[in-house]
Amino acid sequence: MADDRFHVYDTTLRDGAQQEGLNLTVADKLAIARYLDRLGVGFIEGGWPGANPKDTEFFRRARTELDLKHAQLAAFGSTRRPGMKAADDPLVAALRESEAPVVTLVAKSHDRHVELALRTTLEENLEMIRDTVSHLRAEGRRVFLDAEHFFDGYRSNPAYALEVIRTAAEAGADVVALCDTNGGMLPDELADVVHEAVTATGARIGIHCHDDSGCAVANTLAAVKAGATHVQGCANGYGERSGNANIFTVVANLQLKRGYDLVPPESLRELTHIAHAISEITNVTPNSHQPYVGVSAFAHKAGLHASAIKVDPMLYQHIDPALVGNDMRMLVSDMAGRASVELKGRALGYELTREQSTALVERVKELEAQGYTFEAADASFELLLRDTVGELRPRYFTVESWRVIVERRPDGEVVSEATVKLNAKGERIIATGEGNGPVNALDKAVRVALERLYPELAAVELIDYKVRILEGSHGTGAVTRVLITSSDTDGEWSTVGVDENIIEASWQALEQAVTYGLLRAGRTAP
Ligand SMILES: [Zn+2]
Repeated sequence: MADDRFHVYDTTLRDGAQQEGLNLTVADKLAIARYLDRLGVGFIEGGWPGANPKDTEFFRRARTELDLKHAQLAAFGSTRRPGMKAADDPLVAALRESEAPVVTLVAKSHDRHVELALRTTLEENLEMIRDTVSHLRAEGRRVFLDAEHFFDGYRSNPAYALEVIRTAAEAGADVVALCDTNGGMLPDELADVVHEAVTATGARIGIHCHDDSGCAVANTLAAVKAGATHVQGCANGYGERSGNANIFTVVANLQLKRGYDLVPPESLRELTHIAHAISEITNVTPNSHQPYVGVSAFAHKAGLHASAIKVDPMLYQHIDPALVGNDMRMLVSDMAGRASVELKGRALGYELTREQSTALVERVKELEAQGYTFEAADASFELLLRDTVGELRPRYFTVESWRVIVERRPDGEVVSEATVKLNAKGERIIATGEGNGPVNALDKAVRVALERLYPELAAVELIDYKVRILEGSHGTGAVTRVLITSSDTDGEWSTVGVDENIIEASWQALEQAVTYGLLRAGRTAP
């Protein structure tokens, strides 16, 4: 169990799930909870049982299907309705029945919200807090209180906002989390209010920030500095509008820069993996620029800096990326000279000779002049490097020919059919695939052809496809550049193809994607 002196409280499954386009099944929620527990957060807010049938189901299944090592589950719900007893409120009953050891109650702390949204008196709102907190405490639950719209409420009526904190704490709430529900606060003012709340009430204070001003993480850190000992946030910063405070960034900052001991260091080294695994489950494309865990978070466009990075990488990065399971990457571009190519080679595990790196730089420049780019296509670069340094590029298959037919049927449906003829392991294979587009059909045909010989291809998925038309130069026609991103269970890689014909460009990227996938899977050349 995590140390109780400082709480890392995740609300991905409740507040994060409010993100536009994010739709989680109960199985998704259970899977995300396992990853958050593996990271070592103290609390996982599972949802609002009673208000949402899926969340009721989550808590029911969690009892038998989740074996949490670090985290405790928290059920979220509101204080009882005006004019009744907490013990008689069916929504409060659903919180009890969730059997979550922690209940987080949301309560109004802004006087105008009490009057306009809740349509009750300020005194009755305090009574609702008192009654619901003490009822759940008597039922053996640990209770946290989320004070909604706290900062706007404090501006409107500071005495009342503070009274909400005192009432909750006196009734037995362990933490009162101050919520910047509208997300518009800036760190300096927020820190002043948190400081006032801590000193004026003596209650244990938590913080819950939204990112509408782009300051959710900064606000969370400022609140901690001002005395908050409980931080709330969401995986990858998920949440409605601009999102919630990114719990991964908050944890990494507090642990690596402020000396807090929040999660086991070996779990922090899994942060990048966990962040990406969760984005697989949510089906939200990972933000490549996300601090600490993004694929670009430690990517350097070498050029001028390359020789210095070679001597001491820490001159150019804020932390050692290995601490969060990320990697320094060197971007290969026509700006880059031999030093960065050597460095990139070394990062991939090759010591290049002077002749080899010169040859590779020449080759990169030549291809870039034709429209290729290796900055975003690491896998293509590695295959090129292997080609340049000798017989290190495995040929798992060779292509005899391919063909794609696109048909618009009488009912208006457009379908594509691809046929590939390949040679692999001494066999000549002819396979067809159908798809909604020509690349999809080619991808399917290649799999049909090769999966019997290379079953590991089943784990390889084509996850992104980008096309760019490049203006021709020096009297040549326009060419098409295709970038394909693929993934397996351990990560992602990108490949590039260029041709005047978009399908040929796609084929090049696809062929490399499959080759690299097999290389990653540890296949040696036949
Ligand atoms: Zn919120």
